[in-house]
Amino acid sequence: MKDRASALASAPEDRAGAILTIDLAAVVENWRRLKKLAAPPCDVGAVVKADAYGLGMAPVAQALLAAGCTTFYVAFLNEAVALRTALGPRPRIIAMHGPTAGRTEPDFAAHNIVPVLSTPEQVKAWRTFAARNDVLMDCFIQVDTGMQRLGLTPAEFDGHMQDPDAFLGLHPLALMSHLACADTPAHPMNAAQRQHFGDALSRFRGSFGDARGSLSNSAGLLLGAPWHFDFARPGIALYGATPLATPTDAKRWPLVPVVRLEARILQVRRVDQAAPVGYGATVTARDGAKLATVAMGYADGLLRGASPAGHGMLDGHKVPIMGRISMDLTTFDISAVSESGARPGGFIELIGTAHTVDDLARAAGTVGYEILTALGQRFHRRYLPATRA
Ligand SMILES: *Cc1c(COP(=O)(O)O)cnc(C)c1O
Repeated sequence: MKDRASALASAPEDRAGAILTIDLAAVVENWRRLKKLAAPPCDVGAVVKADAYGLGMAPVAQALLAAGCTTFYVAFLNEAVALRTALGPRPRIIAMHGPTAGRTEPDFAAHNIVPVLSTPEQVKAWRTFAARNDVLMDCFIQVDTGMQRLGLTPAEFDGHMQDPDAFLGLHPLALMSHLACADTPAHPMNAAQRQHFGDALSRFRGSFGDARGSLSNSAGLLLGAPWHFDFARPGIALYGATPLATPTDAKRWPLVPVVRLEARILQVRRVDQAAPVGYGATVTARDGAKLATVAMGYADGLLRGASPAGHGMLDGHKVPIMGRISMDLTTFDISAVSESGARPGGFIELIGTAHTVDDLARAAGTVGYEILTALGQRFHRRYLPATRA
């Protein structure tokens, strides 16, 4: 498929329905801002799971590595192995899902991937692997401090701490946990989880004096130094979208926008007589309205829920989405735009500085995380380099 496409005479950006521009310098700038925020010696890494939140794991991670980032987090072993290939042998790569106990341990070792061990089964399997190979195995140990998602429960952690052999053959680099409500700075869970984690870490250090702590994601870094510990795991903030739940909180913490998404106008039409628009005839265009249909739909990550509240930007105007979003088409009311500003072949901006990932997320009733990770594979992708001449 790729070969046949490269044999076509036209430019890839002319064949694509939308252009996705990813500013690697902005990713690096956001990482530097987070690093400045974190109290030394906190290691500020980068979470690049889910293809760096849809923006391309290899180019994003390579830009951050060149800027001095040395710790990278992914979810799956497959992601970790691909990242090892992209980054070479030096950086620390942590796979947060850990091994499938008794099955995938050799691959972690062969590619020098540090697993996060979250269950007694994973701890035991990593111990067995260490014993069989007669080496001390690096790992993170995850404890649950109130989310009921992943990590040793308080009772399991207690059991492991009382068993002198529980971590035999393991070299835990860090004790890790995850915050449930960091997107809401005033939420009482934040202080409760910090306290719980601090207590667990003190106890853990009784056995592993050099073990570090890792608690904060992007929003956790904002809570302040007591939440930072030693390894911070920011993701979303690197990509220029807010981790915070309310726009008021988000405003207090400016990030550099990373993404621009422009969808190509396929057709422009003037409606002579009031007429319904799109599947289900859910809205009616008024007499004289001007409509533009672009080559992008929900299969490209423009979530169906983004209509009717969503809009794009064209020629400096807000242009509302009209009717239901289709699989690969979306119609906009561009009545406000002049003749010259609205032609087939032009572009409506869906994400940009005047209309951010967070704005689009709000219109779709979701969060920037979902908008970014839903971005489709049919765009032409353009990367602005991290260092510009
Ligand atoms: C995804 C994830 C992160 C990154 O969170 P952001 O909110 O994107 O900064 C950090 N830690 C864990 C365990 C995660 O799953």
